Amino acid sequence: MLARRLGRASGERDFCFETVACFLSHHRRILACIKHKNKTFSESRMAFRSVFDAAEIRNQFDKAGINPHSIPLIWKYVTQNPNCEWDDIPSLPSAAYPLLRSKFKPSTSTLHSVIDSTDEVTTKLLIQLQNGAFVEAVIMRYDTRLGKYGGKPRGGGPRSTLCISSQVGCKMGCKFCATGSMGFKSNLSSGEIVEQLVHASRLSPIRNVVFMGMGEPLNNYTALVEAIRVMTGSPFQLSPKRITVSTVGIIHAINKLHNDLPSLNLAVSLHAPVQDIRCQIMPAARAFPLEKLMDTLHVYQKNSQQKIFIEYIMLDGVNDEEQHAHQLGKLLQTFQVVVNLIPFNPIGTLSHFRTSSIQRVSRFQKILRGTYNIRTTVRKQMGQDISGACGQLVVNQPEKRSIESAGLLTDIEDLHI
Ligand code: SF4
Repeated sequence: MLARRLGRASGERDFCFETVACFLSHHRRILACIKHKNKTFSESRMAFRSVFDAAEIRNQFDKAGINPHSIPLIWKYVTQNPNCEWDDIPSLPSAAYPLLRSKFKPSTSTLHSVIDSTDEVTTKLLIQLQNGAFVEAVIMRYDTRLGKYGGKPRGGGPRSTLCISSQVGCKMGCKFCATGSMGFKSNLSSGEIVEQLVHASRLSPIRNVVFMGMGEPLNNYTALVEAIRVMTGSPFQLSPKRITVSTVGIIHAINKLHNDLPSLNLAVSLHAPVQDIRCQIMPAARAFPLEKLMDTLHVYQKNSQQKIFIEYIMLDGVNDEEQHAHQLGKLLQTFQVVVNLIPFNPIGTLSHFRTSSIQRVSRFQKILRGTYNIRTTVRKQMGQDISGACGQLVVNQPEKRSIESAGLLTDIEDLHI
């Protein structure tokens, strides 16, 4: 019954454990049951770590005198065999088996449900963590051959990008974002971050990863760095050039990022060309003044010699006027950037903003391109019907559906340009 109540009919307000717990507060027996369940989750979390928690497994192997070279083999086996037991893995050092059995799980999270969008190019994964919380990840499928670059057809072919969550909820509180409305619940461990890639890889071969799901990745810095190092190593072997971390602009973390993860793509959610509008729509911007942020980005670009991706959500009457386009152009004209204009995705009653008209978005793009020679793309809408579009990720538990055949469309987020 509880599970059915938590399931969300289309258009209804989202439910979460806390909301339901309050709603049912007079039903002591049910609450006792929830508490017991949560206790069990926390106890098991304390007892078992994800095998993809790289620092922990290396540390445990080191303490036990086991050669760490077998760790990528374990990860490969687990990725290919979702329901495996530790004893199924062949040829590990004998001391590894009892250690794995006592301290690690092949997966601490479970794939609760999988939902395809009606356009069949976007798939949302609802993943339940060991502590009972939920996070969402989204697979987006493209065919690069359907797009053009410099007037010529692009090379490549079908591929998938995975949008990953780094936290349960988020403390940044951006006013246009469903996740921001949840508040902050917890950080994901590096293993929990990698497990999203493991779950998604079983559904679709993942070529790109973008940290644009729930949470501010740079607020979970240590786990983020560790997870990306796992993703770029054996057996996943993702190119760091195909991983993008999106941030609201956590200055002290950006200062460390290039040293810790060279070649990574950085995307900055700017969303306004001046500090006061930024603060209105992104309260966290008060802690990271625009001028200081731009200075930090100059240093980052000088060190990394890489383009920076600027995300700009288009909010009707808030930041989408011609003057804003000129302010943004002037702010960015000394950078090597690609600006991605993102039409706002409605999030029901959680936000009062409206989507900018196509004409306004197009005029904004023309000013940036024509007057300031800034490469500017407009993000196509994907996954709106499954609340899997940008800014729509929030913990809810839809009914399970199975995956059907996936279609392809032109590239919307080819960050390697
Ligand atoms: S937009 Fe990103 S940083 Fe802002 S509240 Fe949402 S998840 Fe957090």
